[in-house]
Amino acid sequence: MSNYDVAIIGSGPGGYVAAIRCAQLGLKTAIIEKYDTLGGTCLNVGCIPSKALLDSSEHYHNAVHNFAEHGIIVNSPKADIKQMIDRKNGVVETTCSGIKFLMDKNKVDVYHGVGSFVNATTIKIVNSEGKETQIASKNTIIATGSKPNYFPGMEPDKKRIITSTEALSLKEVPKKMIVIGGGVIGLELGSVYNRLGTEVEVVEFAPNIIPTMDGTMSKELTRVLKKEGFKFYMEHKVQKVENKGKKVVLTALNKKGEEVKLEADYCLVAVGRKPYTTGLGLENAGLKTTDRGQIEVNNNLQTAVPNIYAIGDVVRGAMLAHKAEEEGVYVAELLAGQKPHINYALIPGVVYTWPEVAAVGKTEEQLKAEGVNFKVGSFPIKALGRARASMDIQGLVKIIANKDTDEILGVHMIAPRAADLIMEAVVAMEYRASAEDIARICHPHPTYAEAVKEAALDATDSRPLHV
Ligand code: FAD
Ligand code: NAD
Repeated sequence: MSNYDVAIIGSGPGGYVAAIRCAQLGLKTAIIEKYDTLGGTCLNVGCIPSKALLDSSEHYHNAVHNFAEHGIIVNSPKADIKQMIDRKNGVVETTCSGIKFLMDKNKVDVYHGVGSFVNATTIKIVNSEGKETQIASKNTIIATGSKPNYFPGMEPDKKRIITSTEALSLKEVPKKMIVIGGGVIGLELGSVYNRLGTEVEVVEFAPNIIPTMDGTMSKELTRVLKKEGFKFYMEHKVQKVENKGKKVVLTALNKKGEEVKLEADYCLVAVGRKPYTTGLGLENAGLKTTDRGQIEVNNNLQTAVPNIYAIGDVVRGAMLAHKAEEEGVYVAELLAGQKPHINYALIPGVVYTWPEVAAVGKTEEQLKAEGVNFKVGSFPIKALGRARASMDIQGLVKIIANKDTDEILGVHMIAPRAADLIMEAVVAMEYRASAEDIARICHPHPTYAEAVKEAALDATDSRPLHV
């Protein structure tokens, strides 16, 4: 039986990054993945394939709606969904094989098969042919991630009632798609199909889409998506979804308790994800999950069994790839005797619609609830020369700062390339900058980043230069 300093179960962004960092720090490391490819949800059926389709569909949308104004004449562009999915599969394949390369380069032993605990220091791996291998490890990191969630009445049949995984590989552009859940997945994948010509209807339980983000973002994104053709059914309680052969029928109750029926080709269920621990044999190691299905960990991501750690979607906190990665590095460094740190208050969140929505820190609603004395500065994207040049004029940047100290408490933006722009705010907040600090930094012209400076000027003392 091979012996390791660290065994990692799951090769998503949490697991594979932990493996690389463990190996860099001189720990003998093994990684176990049940599927044939490494990379987990993020690389195979999450972040990367969804962004590949978002980009393809955005190019198509621009060809149909915006090229003519730029003076580019393209006669009747057509969406070739098969080619889009093939290209997406190619991107996934290249990215996943990159992880295999990184494992080899760092001399991490890769085991393919379902990993489960025999006891707290022995792991059994059963591959797809039923062959069993056992390894011994001083420490184990559980990084088994999450799966799509659903509620009674909306069980996905993966044919017409689908999850994000099937939505990433449809063979046709649906005429109509119902999306249950106006969160990140619903709006990103809804955008892909809306841009390709599908009528998208979102059924959301809460009064707002992206309900955990700042209210201004939700309001502005609703306006933008409605203009693009999205239809929203807010505060609707889904009763059931039925596969009727070539159609699905959704029954919901609206705010007044009246029955609403919607019909479409597909129904995408996107109501969150749940931690995945099936088949891990946690009980053999002396572990159990919480009521929410998560593995409980302390501030060091250590479980109730001291040599077993857990990271990423399977533990508390945001279900985000970059959060999982930070936790992977954290545990590796802790095991190597270092004193790592994660600032959970400054994990940025992004929704890859167009324009993108990005945020870090507290929302206006949270600060109100906490009774903090704050001020708000904002700047519309349409006032930027760069935005007019590119014809991307929708959105705004909003900076919330402490009214007494001017320290930045939250930055929220809906803007072209907001996913990249938000990093200026993250760096500033990590160093506890004031709004005036950003306002006094020279920003290149013409850029979208100038909106961050202008919002900071507005927050500092209401003196934006270009509105
Ligand atoms: P996962 O990536 O889920 O990996 C867990 C791995 O463990 C899987 O490969 C699984 O097969 C393996 N495994 C499980 N049990 C066992 C076992 N017993 N033995 C062996 N292997 C096992 N996040 C972002 O930050 N940005 C985005 O743009 C983004 N887009 C997304 C789009 C979609 C459609 C989806 C579904 C998710 C998206 N996410 C995004 C979320 C992101 O994918 C997850 O937060 C991230 O993958 C979590 O990483 P993880 O390492 O914890 O787990
Ligand atoms: P989510 O939590 O973002 O959104 C779920 C939405 O469904 C919420 O708006 C919620 O109010 C609604 N909802 C819940 N129950 C409902 C019901 N019964 N009927 C109608 N609506 C209901 O979850 P998601 O979009 O499924 O994404 C899952 C996870 O994956 C998220 O935690 C997210 O962080 C991650 N993810 C991230 C990205 C990104 O970073 N860009 C992209 C995709 C997914």
